[in-house]
Amino acid sequence: MAHVAIVGAGISGLSAALRLRRRLGAGVRITLLDQSGRVGGKLATGEVAGARVEQGAESILLRDPVVAELAAEVGLGPLVHPAPLAAGIVVGGRTVPVPRGTLMGIPADPAALDGTAPAYALPEPAPVTPGPLVAPAADIAVGALVRSRYGDEIVDRLVDPLLGGVYAGRADDLSLAVTLPALYEAAQHESTLSGAVRAAQRDTPAVGGPAFGVVAGGLSALAEAVAAAADVTPRLDLPVRELAPTPDGWRLTVGSTRDPEPLDADAVVLAVPARPAARLLTGFAPAVAAEVGVLDYASIALVTLVLPGDVLPEASGFLVPATEGYAIKAATFVGRKWPHLAVPGRSLVRLSLGRYGETRVLQRDDDELVALARADLSAVLGERLPTPVGSTVRRWGGGLPQYGPGHLDRIARARAGLAEHPTLALAGAAYDGVGVPACVRSGYAAADTITGELHDAH
Ligand SMILES: Cc1cc2nc3c(=O)[nH]c(=O)nc-3n(C[C@H](O)[C@H](O)[C@H](O)COP(=O)(O)OP(=O)(O)OC[C@H]3O[C@@H](n4cnc5c(N)ncnc54)[C@H](O)[C@@H]3O)c2cc1C
Repeated sequence: MAHVAIVGAGISGLSAALRLRRRLGAGVRITLLDQSGRVGGKLATGEVAGARVEQGAESILLRDPVVAELAAEVGLGPLVHPAPLAAGIVVGGRTVPVPRGTLMGIPADPAALDGTAPAYALPEPAPVTPGPLVAPAADIAVGALVRSRYGDEIVDRLVDPLLGGVYAGRADDLSLAVTLPALYEAAQHESTLSGAVRAAQRDTPAVGGPAFGVVAGGLSALAEAVAAAADVTPRLDLPVRELAPTPDGWRLTVGSTRDPEPLDADAVVLAVPARPAARLLTGFAPAVAAEVGVLDYASIALVTLVLPGDVLPEASGFLVPATEGYAIKAATFVGRKWPHLAVPGRSLVRLSLGRYGETRVLQRDDDELVALARADLSAVLGERLPTPVGSTVRRWGGGLPQYGPGHLDRIARARAGLAEHPTLALAGAAYDGVGVPACVRSGYAAADTITGELHDAH
């Protein structure tokens, strides 16, 4: 019977396990290893003062139905959806609604923005030489493109906080090709940004029905249900410290340095973040390790407060541009946005701190972070909030990959560099997309690669 080792029991590794089981049935032995004490990785549902909260990912984009399908497959569907409330954005100290109809904050018509950035938006300059905005296959940073066309204010006040809400990164560092693929496509044949935004919006039809959803029982429950459906008993608290090819497959060294355990497998799915992946690759594929390991990450902290009474505005939350000078970068009014998580007589708010390259704010201890987050929230709302009845801080050191320009080419080179090791597949947020749907798909793709190789070998 073939034996596949999956390193990392985040949603990518779990999805790989489920797909392998579905394709190979009882004909495959799957060992799922994780260095932490639980499955799910960045899917982490917790509790504070009797309230259930998501302490990692909290909202799944449904444009790709793969997560809704996965939840249904493991008996956890249908997903629940957020209440149809507006989100705000802090501009000049005041909270205005996030303008509608933009592409991650990039409008087709900057003059049509009201309240957010219009006074500062430069009209788009006519192209000096008619031709595409971006040369074919020449990835650039989102910020560079939008600043050159619409000026700084739209980037600083809209694009940056919206992108930051997903990547905790800055528009000036993030790849256009990865973060806005439809716009990247359009920019290679349109000569104005307005035209490219319109073309990208045309090519990306709106999702019918709610755009976001989550598993009612929490995303940790999804992770556990996927492990159960894959019929694997994860081996937890077990770091994989070494990986080496053998004449027949792979040898992993797992466990502590004092008590290392060898584990042999026919194939391996490496579903860990870039740095641990690079450490495991470096012994036999140093060039691939270098391509993978160069990926940088943003660290963030999530502060969840449970406040007495009904003290939050009727909105889903707000985003805070870096230029506003607050430590918090976003707030989600959890009980308002997600009615299934509301607790009578309480107000739940999740505040995120930490942007790419700004780690000083995260050096504070938990109490200081809670105090800072609460003070910032009070300042944005313009009222002193009551003392929380409960609070929690969840830190994600190196939590969110920062896909810079050229990311896709780098990952293609890394995968090509593994051609002589076809029974090793890379999966996870380091490669094919940060969102949970992309991670599920990368786990499936890794499993398909391995399945093909095992079929050929037997
Ligand atoms: C705070 C936060 C909020 C987010 N919000 C959203 C959201 O709302 N919607 C959305 O779609 N996405 C969101 N994301 C992104 C998404 O959650 C992640 O990209 C995704 O869950 C990553 O899954 P993964 O399996 O690739 O990696 P991970 O979840 O990081 O799993 C990797 C696993 O590998 C294990 N591991 C690492 N090294 C080793 C080793 N040497 N040996 C054994 N095990 C090892 C780790 O313990 C971990 O369990 C968010 C991310 C964060 C951090």
